[in-house]
Amino acid sequence: MNKKLYSKLVFELSHANRSGHGLPDYNYGESDWSLPENLNRKSSLNLPEIDESSAVRHYTNSSNNNFGVDTGFYPLGSCTMKYNPKLNEAMVPRAGVAPLHPMQPADSVQGALRIYHTLATYLAEIGGMSEFTLNPFAGAHGEYTGLMVIKAYHQSRGDEARTKVIVPDSAHGTNPASAAMAGFEIIEVKSLPDGTVDVEDLKSKLDFTVAAVMLTNPNTAGIFERSIPEISDAVHEAGALLYYDGANLNPMLGVARPGDMGFDVMHINLHKTFSTPHGGGGPGAGPVGVRKGLERFLPNPRVYEKADGSLDIEMEEDAFGRVSAWLGNFTVYIKALAYILTLGSDGLAQVGPLATLNANYIMQSLKDLYLLPIDRPCKHEFVFDGLCDKSTGVTTLNIAKALLDYGFHAPTIYFPLLFHESLMIEPTETESLETLDAFIEVMRKIANDASQNPDVIKNAPYETPIAHPDEDEAALNPIVKYSDL
Ligand SMILES: *Cc1c(COP(=O)(O)O)cnc(C)c1O
Repeated sequence: MNKKLYSKLVFELSHANRSGHGLPDYNYGESDWSLPENLNRKSSLNLPEIDESSAVRHYTNSSNNNFGVDTGFYPLGSCTMKYNPKLNEAMVPRAGVAPLHPMQPADSVQGALRIYHTLATYLAEIGGMSEFTLNPFAGAHGEYTGLMVIKAYHQSRGDEARTKVIVPDSAHGTNPASAAMAGFEIIEVKSLPDGTVDVEDLKSKLDFTVAAVMLTNPNTAGIFERSIPEISDAVHEAGALLYYDGANLNPMLGVARPGDMGFDVMHINLHKTFSTPHGGGGPGAGPVGVRKGLERFLPNPRVYEKADGSLDIEMEEDAFGRVSAWLGNFTVYIKALAYILTLGSDGLAQVGPLATLNANYIMQSLKDLYLLPIDRPCKHEFVFDGLCDKSTGVTTLNIAKALLDYGFHAPTIYFPLLFHESLMIEPTETESLETLDAFIEVMRKIANDASQNPDVIKNAPYETPIAHPDEDEAALNPIVKYSDL
């Protein structure tokens, strides 16, 4: 492949008056309709002019520069990047919802409403909740929605003093951000050395000003929180509600239900756990479930089943408001429903145990070379704190970069914030033993190379189009337009 030619931007391939299409002549005569003068373009649109073959090659080769679960192992902890069966993608056009208009009368869209209602019912069963709304567009959006439900609940009881939300220091960054968006003050609770929530610290912060406690279980260190019943009792005794961050529900599917543990409100990321690929920024969905008694506060519009078995859309008076114009990201629901139906309850119940087995296999195979700060059986993911051999100066960033030369995506790095050199690995349930072994072999080689010749690892990667971009500059001043170059 001619790397030089194919690494160009499409604008650099452009030649004036070259074209890759042939449209029929425009022969509808003159139109008397024209745009107001001030809306007319002052100069011509600067589109690349390129022949058809070059355009096809440009985009095909650009896509080959990408890395995804379809090209290689992607052990990204927390933001689960897992196998998303193509079958579920294929169901989307077949479901026939694309031509529907959101304002069509309910009796003309019974099939679409059935997809919504069936999925919401299954999620309620999976989460042990009474009712789900599918409307939120993402995990963080779900957190915001759940917290607004909690706020509406307290307000409905005249309990206006509850202005705080308690969040563990190990929480995903969206938790405190969503609580702030919902207008709450954030109180941080510490983690113990074993990665679990410090229950005593938590209890000392509970009082009549706390609206909710947000927890992730298994937590972001991949450790199952064993004190949930005790926490749940204390939270409810203080009059607060318990929120479950179920972005990564895969280790729990069919094994344990947040509702049975005492959680009142939860969200699920369909784009992590239920078969929607993510990583490009969407579309996703963050459905929110609530226990009995909180249903009426869920956002509008609501899909419900009438006495005659047909479905309708309603606006509930007690709802805290809306989070989406209509019923959310519909195509994502189709994939989630197809995933649940193809796996069935037996298949779903295998997801967690297999994800747990795979994670523990990698953890045990590497813990002699990588520092394991919490040496306890993990769930679907676990965290190393860099290499055991700290004398080399090789960092987690160096290890992550070195992995790229071997065709593996890097794990999540520098999260959770519990450790300085966090390397968070999540293999997911669908990887073969051979893939896990190949990853382990490479991780061992990197650790050994780091001890013998640290510079080899510090200077990696050697095979990628770019190696060491200025990451701060890229985040603070990204160049996103050709004209900015
Ligand atoms: C991904 C994730 C979120 C946020 O989900 P988004 O869809 O990215 O907003 C929240 N909590 C945890 C634990 C996550 O992994």
